Amino acid sequence: MDKPIIGVTPDFATVPTQLGPTDRLFLNLDYALAVEAAGGIPHVLPPVLDPADALVAVEALLLTGGGDIDPHRYGAASVHPETYGISEVRDTFELALVKAAIARDLPVLAICRGIQVLNVALGGTLIQHIPASDPNALNHRQHELGIPVDQPAHPVTIMPESKLAAIVETTTLLVNSFHHQAIDAPAPGLVVTARAPDGVIEAVELPSATFVLGVQWHPERLYRTFPQHRALFRALVLAALRSRPLGRSARA
Ligand code: MN
Repeated sequence: MDKPIIGVTPDFATVPTQLGPTDRLFLNLDYALAVEAAGGIPHVLPPVLDPADALVAVEALLLTGGGDIDPHRYGAASVHPETYGISEVRDTFELALVKAAIARDLPVLAICRGIQVLNVALGGTLIQHIPASDPNALNHRQHELGIPVDQPAHPVTIMPESKLAAIVETTTLLVNSFHHQAIDAPAPGLVVTARAPDGVIEAVELPSATFVLGVQWHPERLYRTFPQHRALFRALVLAALRSRPLGRSARA
C-alpha cells in the first residue's frame, strides 16, 4: 500500500543574516523522521500557502511545537511577560489550517504548540504561564531540571475509554515536558483525555472527528526508545490510510 502524505507545519522566524533580516522556515528533523519511521511521507507546509491549497496533496496533518500563540487570538486582555516567540504568520496559517483539516475530516495529530493551536482554533483558551496560574504545579520545563529531552519527566493519567488509551494501550504514561503554557478552557467538542498529576491538561481529542488528537508532550523525541510514543505516529498514518476513498490504494 502506498505511504500516505503527512503534512507537517514548520516553524517560521525572521532571522538576521549577512544579507539582512530574512524570513526562514525551521523544522526539528525528528518530526519528519518519526513520520517516516511510522510509514508516512513527511511533507512540509510553508505558511505562505492558502490553507486549502496547503492541504491539496495531504492525507493527514501533523502540527508541531514552537513559540506561544498570541494571547489576543483567544481573547486575553493582557499578555503575560513570559510569553515568547509569537509569530503572526504562523498563528494565522495554522489556526486556519487545522480548521480546514477538520472540515475535511483529515486525521490530525497536534503536538505541544499544536494542541494549543487546535484548542484555540476551535474556540478554547490557554493558561499563559503555568507557574503564575498555579504556583504548586509541576515544573513542565524539564530542561530546567536537567532531564534530557529524550527521557520522560512526569506521568499522565489517561481517560480509559479514549482513543489515546487505545493507541498507547495504558491509562498511565510517562511523558516528556517542554511547555510553560497549557489548555485552560477546552474548546467546545474537545474532550480532555489526559492530565498531569497537577491537573494540567496533557491530551485532548475530538470525538466528532475520525481522528483528531492533541498531546502536550513531544512524542517525536521519544519514539525511538518508547513504543507507546511511536504508536501515536503509527496511529496517524493508519488513520490516513483508512480515510482513503474505497478502491483507491494508490495516489492518483
Ligand atoms: Mn507537561
